[in-house]
Amino acid sequence: MKYHSNKRVLVTGGAGFLGSHLCDRMVDKGYEVLCLDNFFTGNKKNIQHLLLKPNFELIRHDLTQPLFLEVDEIYNLACPASPIHYQHNPVKTVKTSVLGAIHMLGLAKRVNAKILQASTSEIYGNPEIHPQKENYWGNVNTIGPRSCYDEGKRCAETLFFDYHRQNRVNIRVVRIFNTYGPRMHPNDGRVVSNFIVQALLNRDITIYGDGTQTRSFCYVDDLVDGMIRMMDGPDEFIGPVNLGNPNEFTILQLAEKVIELTGAKSKVVFMDLPVDDPLQRQPDIHLAKEKLDWQPRIQLENGLQKTIDYFKSILSEFR
Ligand code: NAD
Ligand code: UDP
Repeated sequence: MKYHSNKRVLVTGGAGFLGSHLCDRMVDKGYEVLCLDNFFTGNKKNIQHLLLKPNFELIRHDLTQPLFLEVDEIYNLACPASPIHYQHNPVKTVKTSVLGAIHMLGLAKRVNAKILQASTSEIYGNPEIHPQKENYWGNVNTIGPRSCYDEGKRCAETLFFDYHRQNRVNIRVVRIFNTYGPRMHPNDGRVVSNFIVQALLNRDITIYGDGTQTRSFCYVDDLVDGMIRMMDGPDEFIGPVNLGNPNEFTILQLAEKVIELTGAKSKVVFMDLPVDDPLQRQPDIHLAKEKLDWQPRIQLENGLQKTIDYFKSILSEFR
């Protein structure tokens, strides 16, 4: 029996980039939102505008430790997502993914909550199949510098499916491809934020490798919409499902686009390609289209413009 009328939603990693946008949407829907974060890469500024809302609550907690709450739905997003952050303390990254999943799945089992895992395209590693479909098992190095993230997320998927089979936990798994937008951390080292900040400061644009590697960039609003559709969708469809924008660009093309949109005088410089950096990535989103009636709507140019406007506003605060 429930003692509250509103749906109560827990967002782990809720003060981060994606989590804070998800909290916005959940608060707007009138749900009771519990935002959990240890502020490793998240920032109070991302959720400051929500703090006085009666249906929003902030919990400072590290997901490597268990916690007990009464909730109806859990969006499990807590985990550093950019290579420099997840490689900063790789053991902790594995703990966050694996222990975090165990703690959240245990909670979901106890209180009979529905739980969604923010998995990642990195579970495909450096893919030999292009574009990547959900039935591709991936090509991942188990012992490289990216493995703490990739293998942690792979193990989390395994845990989700085992809790589902063994304990009938009502799960959803989404595999998120490179997503960008306002509230990305200016120093988190991901390519979109790096290039925009470099361009706005007229600094050199740092291309790793020769810039022919590809990524497919999804704007945050589209991605959050897909996550919510997945959570709200029928219990028979638990995933995993790819969520991302299938429009694929080389990193060099992205640099040119950012320079064009910012009018920067920056020059492009080439640096070493990091170890195990995937050469190509593009989601096959047929499954999301069919099952969730979802596809991204925001084109790269429009999304980049919104992101540039955001970084302009926060960089002016720093000056
Ligand atoms: P982010 O770094 O902005 O957000 C992660 C949040 O988790 C931060 O607020 C951080 O402080 C919090 N966190 C980290 N470790 C924690 C811990 N031990 N306990 C509690 N909180 C902790 O990154 P993001 O881009 O918003 O990513 C959110 C989720 O989506 C991550 O799980 C990430 O793996 C996944 N994802 C993101 C992308 C993307 O392109 N943005 C792609 C694939 C998957
Ligand atoms: N990248 C780059 N310059 C940068 C940051 C990243 O050329 O300043 C490259 C990086 O090597 C990778 C791609 O851009 O090939 C995407 O990097 P990001 O860290 O954003 O995401 P991920 O590699 O996890 O997809």
